[in-house]
Amino acid sequence: MRYILAMRWPPVLVAPVFRPPSEATSLILQLTVGCSWNRCTYCAMYRSKEFHVRPVDELVEEIRGAVRALPGVRRVFLADGDALAAPVEVLERVLEEIRRELPDVQRVGLYGDSRSILRHGAEELSRLRELGLGIVYFGPETGDEATLRAVRKGATVQRQLEAARTVTSAGIKLSMMVLLGLAGLEGSERHARATGRFITEAKPTYAAALTVTPVPGTELFDAVQGGSFQLPDRWGMLRELVWMLEEMEGYRGPFHANHASNYLPLKLRLPRDRESALELMRHVLETRDETRLRPEWARGL
Ligand code: SF4
Repeated sequence: MRYILAMRWPPVLVAPVFRPPSEATSLILQLTVGCSWNRCTYCAMYRSKEFHVRPVDELVEEIRGAVRALPGVRRVFLADGDALAAPVEVLERVLEEIRRELPDVQRVGLYGDSRSILRHGAEELSRLRELGLGIVYFGPETGDEATLRAVRKGATVQRQLEAARTVTSAGIKLSMMVLLGLAGLEGSERHARATGRFITEAKPTYAAALTVTPVPGTELFDAVQGGSFQLPDRWGMLRELVWMLEEMEGYRGPFHANHASNYLPLKLRLPRDRESALELMRHVLETRDETRLRPEWARGL
């Protein structure tokens, strides 16, 4: 008997869709729509969407559609904001289907927040790793308790640390993002130093520092506009990076601060590049050498 498999192409993508820069060549499948939390004061990424998990049959049809449309595809990214919030049975089914239908795929990645990571726990995550989940992108944003509360992240430093360790203990790569400027001018040094210590303790596979950008439609934007929250200027953001790096003496691995939102793009391997990067940043701060900074018009989210 010959089976005719239902397939659909291209995949459904409910805009806007975000993915990490390192997933630029990946097949993007929208496993969930929106973010399961959607309450952080600085984030408007998924405000227009009501969170839900997409029907697994649709996803399976899209994976089968990719067999013809994208033969040889090597990476898959499961959107949206917190695809790890999906039930484990859904994740397993999708990963199994990817493995069966797209045998050249070497890595499947997704965003996961601390709640979803901890809900699954190391055991379930290990199963997902065996089925092909290779990397979790996790944005604790800060290692400072007061800042976490202020931005309504919905997690404590300890919970975020546990979440980070849960991912790596399951043998999955952990890519961690933090945000320069998140505590404003007032909490600048406290946030930066606590975040540097947090990264060092959490031991992610990759760490990256981005710069917070107030986006219309967020509480942060309103607070900046209303004058109740003052962001550090570009020199202040650079100073935060120095404080952060000063606290990262024990961290080993890549540390990138080269996102389009950052003023001084840096791509470091630590501990090798730590001293030279600190020296460069201190020099730029002392000399106020504007030629080393990315101009405002060239920055992006
Ligand atoms: S920052 Fe992350 S967890 Fe917070 S609302 Fe945005 S996507 Fe959701």
